[in-house]
Amino acid sequence: MNAAHPAATNSPTRPGATRPRRNKGEGQWALGYSEPLNANEQQKKDDNPLNVEDRIRTIYSKRGFDSIDPADLRGRFRWMGLYTQRAPGFDGGKTATLEPHELDDRYFMMRVRSDGALLGPAQLRTLGGISRDFARGTADITDRQNIQYHWVEIESVPEIWSRLAEVGLSTQEACGDSPRGFLGSPVAGVAKDEILDGSPALAEIKRRYIGDPEYSNLPRKFKTSISGHPSLDGAPEINDVSFVGIDHPEHGPGFDLWVGGGLSTNPMLAQKLGVWIALDDVPDVWEGVIGVFRDYGYRRLRSRARLKFLVADWGVEKFRDVLENEYLHRRLPRAESPGLAAHSGDHIGVHEQRDGRFYIGVAPTVGRIDGDTLVALGDLVEQYGAAGARLTAYQKLVVIGVEADRVEPLIEELDRIGLSARPSNWRRSTMACTGIEFCKLAIVDTKQRAHDLIAELERRFPDLDTPISINVNGCPNACARTQVADIGLKGQLVLDEDGSQVEGFQVHLGGGIGLTNGFGAKLRAHKVTSAGLDDYVTDVVSAYLAEREEGESFAA
Ligand code: SF4
Repeated sequence: MNAAHPAATNSPTRPGATRPRRNKGEGQWALGYSEPLNANEQQKKDDNPLNVEDRIRTIYSKRGFDSIDPADLRGRFRWMGLYTQRAPGFDGGKTATLEPHELDDRYFMMRVRSDGALLGPAQLRTLGGISRDFARGTADITDRQNIQYHWVEIESVPEIWSRLAEVGLSTQEACGDSPRGFLGSPVAGVAKDEILDGSPALAEIKRRYIGDPEYSNLPRKFKTSISGHPSLDGAPEINDVSFVGIDHPEHGPGFDLWVGGGLSTNPMLAQKLGVWIALDDVPDVWEGVIGVFRDYGYRRLRSRARLKFLVADWGVEKFRDVLENEYLHRRLPRAESPGLAAHSGDHIGVHEQRDGRFYIGVAPTVGRIDGDTLVALGDLVEQYGAAGARLTAYQKLVVIGVEADRVEPLIEELDRIGLSARPSNWRRSTMACTGIEFCKLAIVDTKQRAHDLIAELERRFPDLDTPISINVNGCPNACARTQVADIGLKGQLVLDEDGSQVEGFQVHLGGGIGLTNGFGAKLRAHKVTSAGLDDYVTDVVSAYLAEREEGESFAA
């Protein structure tokens, strides 16, 4: 029984919460809906999903794949960062009539959360070793600063967990209806222009609340971003809860609170509460926000269960009132919210730190690296006396703490292992989700398609003088942020010239976050086959280059 579920505690509402009313049908616990209204809610009530860890250790890893309870396999495994991957041999067309579970392979995708932490040589080598030993060499950097493996067998999971635990890493709540991997500033604590370092708050939230059964049964996923860097490098606009650095004229450096961002099929940008929060108060305020979501979030329909729907219905003022009155029991100082970022937050290239050393942002191609690269990176970090590396929210890496005279030799070494500090604008600004290679929801290939597209655009536009972001997604779920790229691509089946259904994309043009802020226009006529993508992007970019005015960005 789930300790946090109101029916389990005989307490249908939190103390001080609004009186239960039953005239609304969204399944909010705080309004008295203690009985699950759908199968997902029932499953979470039947058994706290965190309990699956013990069953994986003691039963499933010993007895094998066929011993796994389907309710665990397709539900609770996610709370330990595990999804079954897509069985090979199904393309988008063949899967149109199949349920995702009919595509289950006997192998798993596993996500390791980094939570914006600095990864030292031991952690990088451990991550690489796991990839080599248990994941056929796979290791993708996701846009949530996770490392994602594929081909993991259930028998290997306990050994992977103990290797991760030895270096302070974990897969707990990397997926599922839980507080998933946090985004932090990749240059926290070192950037010259940082407003304040949010990493102590981020670490404290992780210490207090990850693995806490009070917050393991949420209406749906809950994404967090905490960054005190003015470039908005933690993508605050598209997280459920974001703490965004501000310098208050009276109180000094602190954070504004943004809530209710998220993409997928009903994209919404986060709304700014316009408050000032001291660094030490961030964990308590975070707990307040996740409490609002747990208690008032909609649980009847999965499609309306993200925090963004509640924020959209309530508006900023009501959300702030409920947070302050029912959860924090105090008023937060008001503040002016930050606007657009002052500069790009991808941190690619060489930048001087406040201590006189340097950080180097490097780009793999669409986040795809491998175990050998991670091990080699760990060796380079040690050999060159760097502090470590952080993952970014753009599928990239930043090496931190490099002495001036070691910057250029290290850049050469990094380039040799596929991590370029001076990538083309195409490689720098393209992301891709997992896609049909491993994802059961995918309709089209993404990683390889994006890789090939970058190579072709580098050939056709070798001297592109401005970044044009391209986000390639395998389905409407927008894991690689379809709506907030200059050229956003949503995978779907489209008709080719012969009228046959083939892999392709719906195009969204002119979106962005950070420097430019808004959703791309979805143009009905702009659908392109996967095979025709190179030529389509070439036409769009050629038109922009021909017609732009001095200094005009793609999104403008
Ligand atoms: Fe899978 Fe779709 Fe997400 Fe891509 S966008 S990883 S295809 S669910």
